[in-house]
Amino acid sequence: MMYDYLIVGAGISGCVIAERVANILNKKVLIIDSRNHIGGNCYDYLDENGILVHKYGPHIFHTKSKLVFDYISKFTEWEVYFHRVLANVDGIDIPVPFNFDAIYKVFPPKLANEIESKLLEKYSYGQKIPILELRKSSDPLLKFLYEYIYEKIFLNYTIKQWHLSPDEIDESITGRIPVYLSRDDRYFQDKYQAMPKDGYTAIFNKMIAHPNIELKLNMRLSDIENEISYDKLIYTGKIDEFFDYKYGELPYRSLDFKLEVYEIEFYQKVAQNNFPNNFDFTRITEFKHFYKRKINNNTIVAKEYPTQHIIGQNEAYYPIINNENKILYDKYINEAKQLENVYFIGRLAEYMYYNMDETFLSALKLFDILKENNVTH
Ligand SMILES: Cc1cc2nc3c(=O)[nH]c(=O)nc-3n(C[C@H](O)[C@H](O)[C@H](O)COP(=O)(O)OP(=O)(O)OC[C@H]3O[C@@H](n4cnc5c(N)ncnc54)[C@H](O)[C@@H]3O)c2cc1C
Repeated sequence: MMYDYLIVGAGISGCVIAERVANILNKKVLIIDSRNHIGGNCYDYLDENGILVHKYGPHIFHTKSKLVFDYISKFTEWEVYFHRVLANVDGIDIPVPFNFDAIYKVFPPKLANEIESKLLEKYSYGQKIPILELRKSSDPLLKFLYEYIYEKIFLNYTIKQWHLSPDEIDESITGRIPVYLSRDDRYFQDKYQAMPKDGYTAIFNKMIAHPNIELKLNMRLSDIENEISYDKLIYTGKIDEFFDYKYGELPYRSLDFKLEVYEIEFYQKVAQNNFPNNFDFTRITEFKHFYKRKINNNTIVAKEYPTQHIIGQNEAYYPIINNENKILYDKYINEAKQLENVYFIGRLAEYMYYNMDETFLSALKLFDILKENNVTH
């Protein structure tokens, strides 16, 4: 069988390329996935109570990019949803990111007021200050605030999540933890933040419903590469796996999700509760909060336990990005650059922590390159 494109992986990256090259370039596409469903890590399904469950962890859509929002809106309507996260610290639920309300919840009023004034003296209202910046401050109050957040919110959560001390992790990850000088208790401030009306899987189904696109599930690249011919390969799996781990494994963190069903209306106040210091799980997600629809008196929650990634035993979720691993990745990408008509894209192939909008954007950019090449050839 002859295809213009073979696409490995039916997550965001694979589905965007499939949809674009089929619709815009009128190319014939085979898209395969080793899993028994499409959608990659964004896959969701309706459970027996009619609750949309995110199989690979909670996925909250948010973006500043109108381009991305408009593109996805071709395949879905949206429901307004603002994500709110509470962290349980010494038995008190405080907003995440740590904001002015959090300061007043954990400190006595006089101290809270002094900290708030000091922050506003140095920074502007509405700014997000990475806690690593507070560490550098010579002001004793700001240093005290840094130490509090570091000890109570950041340190143990990070160790649970990564099984590494914060110093061993790239600042692109640790630098994400801010103090938010605001009373806005939403987790994200992006212009576009919402839940797809019928969930994420419905989006991917629509994207690849095209006569030029053939889908084969439960199929790895190695099962099929010698049986078909194709002009171009789009690979969205792990880049180290593609090269048979010849330079060694790129490390990942994995997660174990324990689902629990309760015969109550709601289990917790918001969709996500973090537990920085207690228990072995990092967070509990209650999926029912994502949509405003009326569902019966049952609810389902996922407790999330970070674990070591072992090939063949669990999923590779978060790349462990540090200098050593970046050097290893460079060896693979240099080899990849030698290949003609093979493109590596997505969080696994690029060894990147990409949010969904970044993944969409990166795939749309690759499509622009493919389109350009298509015209010149
Ligand atoms: C726990 C978790 C929570 C997240 N929450 C959010 C969030 O709230 N908001 C947000 O914006 N982003 C979130 N993300 C990020 C989001 O999941 C990614 O941006 C997105 O899934 C990346 O899409 P992708 O297509 O690159 O990769 P994937 O979704 O991983 O898809 C790759 C696909 O390729 C298949 N595959 C791999 N190798 C092969 C092979 N050799 N043969 C056949 N098939 C193969 C895999 O089975 C998979 O289906 C989260 C990520 C994680 C891990």
